[in-house]
Amino acid sequence: MINKTLAELSSSLKAGEFSSVELTQYFLDRITKHDADLNSFITVTEEQALAGAKNADEQIASGSSGALTGIPIAYKDLFCTDGIRTSCASKMLDNFIAPYNATAVEKLTEAGMPMLGKTNMDEFAMGSSNENSFYGAVKNPWDLERVPGGSSGGSAAAVCAKLAPVALGTDTGGSIRQPASLTGITGIKPTYGRVSRFGMIAYASSLDQGGVFASNAEDCALVLGMMSGFDAKDSTSVDRDVPDFSAALNDSIQGLKIGVPKEFFGEGLDSGIDKVIQEALEEYKKLGAEIVEISLPNTHLAIPSYYVIAPAEASSNLSRFDGVRYGYRCEDPVDLTDMYMRSRGEGFGTEVKRRIMTGTYALSAGYYDAYYLKAQKIRRLISNDFKQAFEKVDVIMGPVSPETAFKIGEKTDDPISMYLADIYTLSLNLAGLPGMSIPAGEANNMPVGLQIIGNYFEEGKMLNIAHQFQQVTDYHKRVPTQFGEEK
Ligand code: GLN
Repeated sequence: MINKTLAELSSSLKAGEFSSVELTQYFLDRITKHDADLNSFITVTEEQALAGAKNADEQIASGSSGALTGIPIAYKDLFCTDGIRTSCASKMLDNFIAPYNATAVEKLTEAGMPMLGKTNMDEFAMGSSNENSFYGAVKNPWDLERVPGGSSGGSAAAVCAKLAPVALGTDTGGSIRQPASLTGITGIKPTYGRVSRFGMIAYASSLDQGGVFASNAEDCALVLGMMSGFDAKDSTSVDRDVPDFSAALNDSIQGLKIGVPKEFFGEGLDSGIDKVIQEALEEYKKLGAEIVEISLPNTHLAIPSYYVIAPAEASSNLSRFDGVRYGYRCEDPVDLTDMYMRSRGEGFGTEVKRRIMTGTYALSAGYYDAYYLKAQKIRRLISNDFKQAFEKVDVIMGPVSPETAFKIGEKTDDPISMYLADIYTLSLNLAGLPGMSIPAGEANNMPVGLQIIGNYFEEGKMLNIAHQFQQVTDYHKRVPTQFGEEK
């Protein structure tokens, strides 16, 4: 069961080999059995899952089902889900029941996908290790002493350990690609504006984008296609046709020009990861691609500019959590100021507070020009680097992360070293480009992802390129022994 693609699950459902209720129960049982080890779910929605599955079975029986009807899914706990707690892994929203569905959730629910539950994450999506959750750290299924990456670590761990066949995440600076890389699964962050942000609790609005975790590119294509598209409720969603991402999967990639940025292979990159990436590029050469060295000269400015822009936007977005309308309110406030201060002081965790302080500082009069405005100018330079590169090449490849999954606790006292791990992922978000991570091998006995960066709205081409690699390799089929199929 756990090795089937979504298309295979769908045809088994249609052929009546098992029902959606049985399939959904199967994953719920796996969650019960394994999630105590992983902590990948914050809320398991058994009742909604089985009700959704029952509906799906009726649709299948009536012949009105689609490609994803009856296949269960999990959502990162920042996608609002009607009537279900949506906590953002924060004490601030521990008691928040969303009154509506995020557009992505709405679309996938309409497509007939039962919801298994809400996955763990770094609080307000701030982090690269999933240790910043009010509900505790998530474990990497390949080594329970190591992090799964973040901030969508719960979704990544759940898909890696086959507790869900597919899950949604969000990527503001790498939070889909990095955990996909660290857990050896496939993850795609589409172009900014491709997927509606309506109902996704905001971290940094000009960078946030929803996307998919699955075992392989073929599965990602199906789900991404279903959740994409213009949404009048999100003013930054782009009014543009969504192509059938599955249609191009088998196109030949003969003659494809792959740009490899020399800045992605400098000091700080683990030598084992470097080797895996070189081998993956060799595989692409065998498939008919041409490798072209390129330069993205402003790569070293991605971390400083992102860590001004993202906290600045976060400080503004998070000002709504003040204990008045919803979320946590402190006990017995003596006056309004005391209520604001203690509700925020008690409701937010350390990393969130750090970001709010950095962001508020960068936006304050007197510092705005020196930090925020400067960072925005650098953002333009970074976008221009990509623009020039895409005049010469079709796609860009490199590592996702400079290192494989690190030990839980290893970096918690040193936020700067945590930020440095985002070096290869942030620039895409600053430019709004789509990116993927696909499993490409192992280093230090842990999975390594290959990053594929496409030009704007070229998700179809990226999925095709990923799928071709997955036709000749089997890294995407590997499952940690402990989470293998029951006999
Ligand atoms: N690690 C980055 C941060 O902490 C990215 C997080 C994300 O993409 N949500 O901001």
